[in-house]
Amino acid sequence: MKQYITISMSLLTFLFFSCTSSDSIMEDAEDEDETTESVTELHAAFAEFDTTETDIYLSANGTTVTIEASGLPNHKTGYWGEGHTLYYEEDSSFDPTPTTLNENGNYDQVITVDAVPSKASNTTSTSLGSIGVAISGAAIYNDQEGSGSLDGAAVSLDWTGAHIGPDVYHYHLEPHAMSNDDKNLIGILKDGFFIYGRKCDSTNTYPTNLDSSGGHTSTTQHSDGEEEYHYHVINEIYSTSSLGDVGYILFAGPFQGSL
Ligand SMILES: [Zn+2]
Ligand SMILES: [Zn+2]
Repeated sequence: MKQYITISMSLLTFLFFSCTSSDSIMEDAEDEDETTESVTELHAAFAEFDTTETDIYLSANGTTVTIEASGLPNHKTGYWGEGHTLYYEEDSSFDPTPTTLNENGNYDQVITVDAVPSKASNTTSTSLGSIGVAISGAAIYNDQEGSGSLDGAAVSLDWTGAHIGPDVYHYHLEPHAMSNDDKNLIGILKDGFFIYGRKCDSTNTYPTNLDSSGGHTSTTQHSDGEEEYHYHVINEIYSTSSLGDVGYILFAGPFQGSL
């Protein structure tokens, strides 16, 4: 239907301006397809990212943003080995994977996203491995585990819903180091949309209009009054027999933006 209207409008334009030039029709058509917007400064949310563990910059033409992350979390966890200043003694049920974080290890992650991301016409499933970067500098994963279900790996998750396996430290659950039942920014996903805690700044409570990805369009504390699409941790308890504590899945997909 939209296409039909567009064609009709073009036809009208053509009839109206047919005595001058057909160039105007070409310009109209190009405007219709224009999807890449440029900006002159980084989105305000990027100021929340740890400046030691991430390096974030805008492309020369202002259309894309590149986020280089160390992959090392800037907060305490049992995955920092004993003796490290950020080592944290987890509770007794914690059964870590056999790897600890290494300051000198190479866990770098680089993602490039549109400076002004837009929703795609089709969603994209997430896959195993990193699906985004948290403000802490570490990776965001979905609700799946390479070695099997997340349930089986739950005992290896630290106090902030993360573990190492097989290589990089990554979050699966609401990461309490950044957000715990609040509206804090958690990070950015590979489709360019930001992900926030379980509450939304627009209403100061749990959003009730989230799509299947936990996303909706509203203002945020970083959007300067403009409405923009973003994700939230969905406020549904994820709990299993092997997970003694209450947790919330960070992101179960699919991506709503283009990759
Ligand atoms: Zn994992
Ligand atoms: Zn929101």
